[in-house]
Amino acid sequence: MIPAAFEYIRAQSADEALAALQKHGSEARVLAGGQSLVPAMRFRLARPAVLVDINPIRDLDYVRMNGALTIGATARDITVERATWIHDARWSLLHEVSRVVADPVVRQMATVVGSLCHNDPAGDWTAAALASRAEVVVRGAAGERTVPIDEFLVDSFTTAVADGEMAIAVRFPLPDDRTAGSYQKVERKVGDFATAAAAVQLALDANGTIRQAGIALSAAGPCAVRVADAEALLVGQKPSAEAVRAAADAATRRSEPQADLRGSVEYKKHLAGVLVTRGLRQSLSRLGVQV
Ligand SMILES: Cc1cc2nc3c(=O)[nH]c(=O)nc-3n(C[C@H](O)[C@H](O)[C@H](O)COP(=O)(O)OP(=O)(O)OC[C@H]3O[C@@H](n4cnc5c(N)ncnc54)[C@H](O)[C@@H]3O)c2cc1C
Repeated sequence: MIPAAFEYIRAQSADEALAALQKHGSEARVLAGGQSLVPAMRFRLARPAVLVDINPIRDLDYVRMNGALTIGATARDITVERATWIHDARWSLLHEVSRVVADPVVRQMATVVGSLCHNDPAGDWTAAALASRAEVVVRGAAGERTVPIDEFLVDSFTTAVADGEMAIAVRFPLPDDRTAGSYQKVERKVGDFATAAAAVQLALDANGTIRQAGIALSAAGPCAVRVADAEALLVGQKPSAEAVRAAADAATRRSEPQADLRGSVEYKKHLAGVLVTRGLRQSLSRLGVQV
């Protein structure tokens, strides 16, 4: 289908984009990689009267280590996937995510920030951002605010970005060298959204005790969900098969998937536990611990 008519604004700076967003309010939408918005417009599921294209804004096209890993709003998935630092084990969660989002063609255009703003229930970056305790920088007429990812992801396809605002960047805290993670995704074929997926990030202290745990599921609710019970069960414990089993059980309980062509509710709940088990074992193995 052909999209409904819309006004197209090609913003050359964040200020220009924000001026257009503030002028047109709820009528306007940001166009980033266009990999979700354009198909939605073609199916007339989205009918913005005004499209504010942020792609020309070169100074938002960056991936920087500056006290955090900061990814600007126009940086493509492919830039993260091809980064050299991503091969370090402490970035293993983001490394694995960057290779399984959609397919290589989509990743050439799609942006990490756009994916967070889209907040698809089966999104991959959203689960990884939750497990990593990322935060999103949102800019509007009143200036900038930093929103923890748990507050940013409000509901399916809904975020904390208000009319007249845009997300400028996402920040991932720098993991130390006793940190490792894993992204476990079951998909029917390359390029498909997750049937179920689990993002895991673990940090150990000097004694080998779990200091911090991040566990999130995709395709397990209205949007990616943190498995807070599993995290609480792990923190302060020595890694063990029992602790992994308890965390996996908590993930199965927390998972609230929808039945669809990819599988039944029971199957997806079971997968959530299996994928958290694999993610925890993989993360621990990267830290030199076998359970
Ligand atoms: C064939 C196909 C397969 C896919 N498979 C997967 C998959 O397996 N896993 C997965 O996670 N994703 C998948 N995707 C989605 C894709 O990877 C992108 O994450 C997604 O399209 C959003 O990124 P984008 O830059 O294209 O955003 P756009 O499509 O441009 O925008 C998406 C939404 O976010 C808003 N937005 C974007 N940037 C901003 C901003 N800076 N500030 C405020 N609002 C903003 C837009 O207004 C729009 O509402 C797939 C897409 C396709 C086409």
